[in-house]
Amino acid sequence: MSKQDLHSVAVLGSGESGMGAVRLAVKQGLSVFLSDGSAIAEAKKDELTKLGVAFEEGGHSLDKIVAYKEVVKSPGIPNSAAIIKEIKAASVPVISEIEFASRYTGAKLIGITGSNGKTTTTLLTTHILKSAGLNAASAGNVGNSLSDLLASGAAHDIIVLELSSFQLDDIDTFKPDVAVLLNITPDHLDRYNYQMAEYAAAKYRLFENMGESDLIILNQDDSWVVKGAQSSPARIQPVSVQGRVLGHGAFSEADCLILDTEKEIEVIPTGYLPLIGKHNHYNQMAAILAALEVGVSFPEIINALGSFKNAAHRLENAGVVNDITFINDSKATNVDAVFYALDAIEAPIVWIAGGVNKGNDYSQIKALVQQKVHTLICMGKDNAHLKDEFSGDVSVLTETLSAAEAVKAAFEHAQEGDVVLLSPACASFDLFKNYEDRGDQFKAAVKELKDVQPKMK
Ligand code: ADP
Repeated sequence: MSKQDLHSVAVLGSGESGMGAVRLAVKQGLSVFLSDGSAIAEAKKDELTKLGVAFEEGGHSLDKIVAYKEVVKSPGIPNSAAIIKEIKAASVPVISEIEFASRYTGAKLIGITGSNGKTTTTLLTTHILKSAGLNAASAGNVGNSLSDLLASGAAHDIIVLELSSFQLDDIDTFKPDVAVLLNITPDHLDRYNYQMAEYAAAKYRLFENMGESDLIILNQDDSWVVKGAQSSPARIQPVSVQGRVLGHGAFSEADCLILDTEKEIEVIPTGYLPLIGKHNHYNQMAAILAALEVGVSFPEIINALGSFKNAAHRLENAGVVNDITFINDSKATNVDAVFYALDAIEAPIVWIAGGVNKGNDYSQIKALVQQKVHTLICMGKDNAHLKDEFSGDVSVLTETLSAAEAVKAAFEHAQEGDVVLLSPACASFDLFKNYEDRGDQFKAAVKELKDVQPKMK
């Protein structure tokens, strides 16, 4: 019997998770082959050669791939891709990188998914666990892939995983000990035949292998979310900002978060929380319940909250010039995220939005825009949809083709006490490399205003 017959894996895609899977497979002594439909970066090819891993680029050879026992697929490759259909037709299992990697760890796993809030909740949960002295790390969609974390050889007792629907699409036995489902709102529907039910089903897969001793933390205010856990044997702790929850869980009431678990009831004044906005109430309640579940004490949680700093580009304060506050929410690439940004801001708003429209339905934010936004600055190559929707709702509507122009225009139209909010509801790649580049250019333009402003006085 050849080594291939014993245990072997073909990896599709040389991105972050594909290279991670290769490194982990090599570490586990598996026979590996990497196939990429596009060109592979030189540095990666050098690494593959050093690792002794065979590879191909610029196309997939079905015969070579199906000679391996399993295929680990990059989350970027849709199941509708011809190569995936052909591999499945040849009866070779296709699994996600999370499925593959999770076989090689005995760590407790906290899995976090949702359309929005994954990174924030993952980072906050990890921060609380680490501050409490637990040997914890985060991985998945944020920072390193799980494979990479495991291949690095660092052992952790708890791993907090940020999981996208694409990563959950091809799991089989993967099971978190604690699962968090934050929300399910329209996003990435192009990958799910434009059907919410199909997209939601991918999120529900997080629960599919969970048992009675495991815990699901979910958003009680979201009917798509609630549906997904109905038949699970796992314990459930809901979170809500609309009222009390059934059984144990957490909710917000009269400027407080109430945490009610099987062991204790605790209260946190919302003024003590590190993150503003209702959406962040969900995220913070979920992170706290997850931390309590894995044994962190309430005083340790309170202590950790005081020192949490969220990742950039999520309602990030980008500076104040002439009493006008600039907020960078470049990561808001869908309408639901913008809803919570507009909802969280108390001042009159100059709103910078636009970019690559993902089939947005703006009805959810119409009333908030009418109530709070006086100026809309459309930033992007084609914002016809945005203009059509809001031209009757704002006093000023202008169009720009760069972050610098948008910030200048916003500054011209803003009054003292206003907030200039970059919260685009759209993807960024018409004008920018990615959402980080968009947010960075926005912040640089605000900094320039700040630098110039005093001289103008
Ligand atoms: P993800 O990793 O799921 O994209 P992030 O934490 O990076 O989520 O936040 C992405 C965007 O969504 C930001 O604009 C943020 O303000 C907003 N957001 C964060 N949490 C939530 C939530 N629970 N519900 C709706 N929007 C949210």
